[in-house]
Amino acid sequence: MHTARPPFLYVIALGSNRPHGHHGRPASVIAAARSYLSGPAVALLASSPIIASAPVGPSLRTYANSACLIRSCLMPPALLAGLKSIEREFGRRRGQRWGNRVLDLDIILWSGGRWQSRNLTIPHRLWRERDFVVSPVASLVPAWRDPLTGLTTRQLAFRHNRPIPVDPSSKRA
Ligand code: AMP
Repeated sequence: MHTARPPFLYVIALGSNRPHGHHGRPASVIAAARSYLSGPAVALLASSPIIASAPVGPSLRTYANSACLIRSCLMPPALLAGLKSIEREFGRRRGQRWGNRVLDLDIILWSGGRWQSRNLTIPHRLWRERDFVVSPVASLVPAWRDPLTGLTTRQLAFRHNRPIPVDPSSKRA
């Protein structure tokens, strides 16, 4: 399915919309979580700025979002297991979906191109639709191509931010 050899590069999306007892507000949770992305098996190469974004789904809390570029020899399932254990350290409970969450870590892209297994799809299934993921990712790795669409992350971000033309003769303009 892929021909890449380790070490691999991964783009990780980080999101938080709940304060943490020790780390504090969501932006501080993201800043703290970044330091967990550096250790014996993983090197943190770059981080995007942390942005605030509107809630997704039924939650009403504003999110803090960011993306990180990391290098690791771990294969995608092993990296996902590591990310899940970091989420657990931050108090994320299993089965919480679309809800309020202290920390959400997703694998967005990797240098191996595509990955598909039972619990893991890379590129992340929904990332192209989420401006709060696309913008930070494009600021980190603008020239990387999304293997599904063939577009660069910069082009995907441009699609999100492109102004919608208005017809001045229309009554709704
Ligand atoms: P979420 O609610 O966004 O944290 O996603 C929960 C589940 O999505 C995880 O337990 C993973 O098994 C699965 N999943 C599938 N693809 C990915 C991906 N690219 N990154 C992270 N989780 C993924």
